[in-house]
Amino acid sequence: MAEILRAVKGMNDILPPSVPRTDKLPDSALWQWFETTVRSVLGRYGYQNLLTPIVEPTALFVRGLGEVTDIVEKEMYSFVDSMNGDKLTLRPEATAGIVRAMIEHNALYNGPLRIWTMGPMFRHEKPQKGRYRQFNQLDVEAMGFAGPDVDAEMILMVRTLWRELGLVEGRHVRLEINSLGQPLERKAHRDALVAYFEQHKGVLDVDSQRRLTSNPLRILDTKNPVMQPMVEAAPKLIDFLGEASLAHFNAVRAILDAAGLEYRVNTRLVRGMDYYNLTVFEWVTDQLGSQGTVCGGGRYDGLIEQLGGKPAPAVGFGLGIERLLLLIQELALTVPSSAPTAYAVVTSMDSAPQVMLVLEKLRAAGVSVLMHAGGGSMKSQFKRADSSGARYALIFGGDELSRGEASLKDLRNPETPQRSLPLAEAANWAAELLNA
Ligand code: ATP
Ligand code: MG
Repeated sequence: MAEILRAVKGMNDILPPSVPRTDKLPDSALWQWFETTVRSVLGRYGYQNLLTPIVEPTALFVRGLGEVTDIVEKEMYSFVDSMNGDKLTLRPEATAGIVRAMIEHNALYNGPLRIWTMGPMFRHEKPQKGRYRQFNQLDVEAMGFAGPDVDAEMILMVRTLWRELGLVEGRHVRLEINSLGQPLERKAHRDALVAYFEQHKGVLDVDSQRRLTSNPLRILDTKNPVMQPMVEAAPKLIDFLGEASLAHFNAVRAILDAAGLEYRVNTRLVRGMDYYNLTVFEWVTDQLGSQGTVCGGGRYDGLIEQLGGKPAPAVGFGLGIERLLLLIQELALTVPSSAPTAYAVVTSMDSAPQVMLVLEKLRAAGVSVLMHAGGGSMKSQFKRADSSGARYALIFGGDELSRGEASLKDLRNPETPQRSLPLAEAANWAAELLNA
């Protein structure tokens, strides 16, 4: 036998629910339900869908995310196109590519835009639960809006999404917000921070010592417990914010307060990309260990200009779909069934033309029917019907068909007597099956 090839480490197949898997990753039915819910919620807020390529010029991320970010320093899948020598990268996040596309198509010419995309991102990280090398994000951006109203709208929209997915805010997912102010305010804070870290050099680990000159803000993000007390007492950015930045932050908070959304102001909240300013936020959970952030984002007013576009403010977020679905699975929330309404038991292949014509009518009327294909004993067909999760078995046996009928068996209520249904009235039973 030939050697079996396997998926690349950290990259997963998303399988249908009927295929059991040992690693307990969410199945495609859960994914579909999530996607349907996303489309519905985002549509109600007026967000439009867009899709950009998975491969972009490497320079886009280096310029967009910042040279000394973790992603650009060590997580990108970059390669040289062997045909023409172009330097390319599998996108590690969505915002830079969307900004590139919006500049390229002069998309803000007619006014601001609310957009979203969904798809795979690639980061060369250590694979573990909730952290993969190919993972999927829902990414939402509002471009050309400067005010705190859109920041708050976005956060409230995520709350609506949580609610429709059965998650309770404050219990299953909690909101943390912060303001990163403007570049000059950050510079003043950064200078104070570097001076403070210099004073505490003895406590810094190797990683942090390196960051002291390259990216001192990231030291605040350390997961090293030894450094926590020192980091806790470090100068806080919020104390360096000017009037306008504070006003923006307070306006976001006022909207969230009025909407009854509870949150924690986490003055230590910084984000992995350099492009953020003013509002930043994360939705976190305690259920997924150290992979606790399911959604994160904020304002990035300088990025469009930085990537060569006409200056325009913007705000956005990325939501890790695998993490979110793991959380939903972990909490054992009830999700809508993806099982068919009926399973068609077909005793003789010869009857296929007649039977399949009826099934076509049922499906056209909106009923999901899984047909038993390939023949086999009644017993084996009923076994399949049971494991399909279908509510009903529709039995097309020789006797029934000769009378111009099929039988309907309620698989979930075995005491309910079987009923005969005239084939000529398929459209009528469709309505009945749908309402059952
Ligand atoms: P983390 O601190 O967990 O590494 P991050 O700050 O790098 O997250 P972002 O770049 O803000 O993450 O991406 C937005 C979301 O995408 C994260 O909140 C998370 O839910 C998800 N995410 C990020 N990296 C991964 C990954 N390697 N595997 C799965 N999901 C991921
Ligand atoms: Mg990361």
